[in-house]
Amino acid sequence: MGFNEQFFNAAMDRLNQRRANNRIIGELRRDEVNEKIPEYRELSQHLAETGQKLVSLIMKGGDTAQGVAQLEKDNLDTQKCMTELLKTAGYPEDYLKPVYTCPKCRDKGTVNGKWCSCFHRLMLEEAAKELNESSPLELSSFESFRLDYYPDKIDPALHVSERVIMQRNFDFCKEYAENFTAKSEGILMSGATGLGKTHLSLAIASRVLEKGYSVIYGSAPELLRIIEREYFGKSDKDTMSALIGCDLLILDDLGAEMEKQLYDSLLYEIINSRVSRGLPMIVSTNYSTSELTKHYSDKICSRLLSFRLMAFVGSDIRRIIKKKK
Ligand SMILES: [Zn+2]
Repeated sequence: MGFNEQFFNAAMDRLNQRRANNRIIGELRRDEVNEKIPEYRELSQHLAETGQKLVSLIMKGGDTAQGVAQLEKDNLDTQKCMTELLKTAGYPEDYLKPVYTCPKCRDKGTVNGKWCSCFHRLMLEEAAKELNESSPLELSSFESFRLDYYPDKIDPALHVSERVIMQRNFDFCKEYAENFTAKSEGILMSGATGLGKTHLSLAIASRVLEKGYSVIYGSAPELLRIIEREYFGKSDKDTMSALIGCDLLILDDLGAEMEKQLYDSLLYEIINSRVSRGLPMIVSTNYSTSELTKHYSDKICSRLLSFRLMAFVGSDIRRIIKKKK
């Protein structure tokens, strides 16, 4: 993933912060154990002393084999004793081992000269943070979604009320967010403006973010415009990598972009890359499924229509809210 310098530096800072925090956690644990188990403290002093003795013995030279073996045995016995003391006091065996957030790279950020996945993740999170900055993620939650704004009288064409349909959509989205994994299915939200597509997808975004996944939320026209600029070398950022790599991508308002032809291949690249990696996305559009097929190529539509289809029906909820006020 080729992210720009800004994200790289931010990720580096967080990695350093992580190491510093873990060092402090380690020191606090040591202090705690030394205080609770005085015998443990004595043994660790003894351990330090035998270490010093060992060094001076080797420095002295001559026939030291027997002395060294003696000290090494003493060392091992002491360590065994300390482990026993820890266990007896109810601590896990590795309680005083160095603390690492990522044991794979020991928080160094690299493994065998390559960037570790934890470092990629940090850069991705930094890119997502910037892209989400303009989205009102904290304003939309499941708790603030008002089902009572949707009429509960039976719609003759639908044979159910709008409220029942919305209740179903709401329940599905809430469960989706609660049980989200990076292998969840994709969702295609289709229906006219003002029926709650944005509110529900933002509510999913904020819940999934809370659970620690990386989420990018953005309007399709805006994100496509950003990527187009990058393709033409007008920016050194790599938004495409972030869109393709995040755990959940939410493309709002697909169809509102001008020049759909121009964006066709970019859009396909995003959707196809994610689908082939098994990563979920939520796409919302004012188009019906038949309108989608008119505006987008077959290969885009076949991907989108493989998602779970969620229809939003009824009258513009924002008009109803205004009337009620
Ligand atoms: Zn790592």
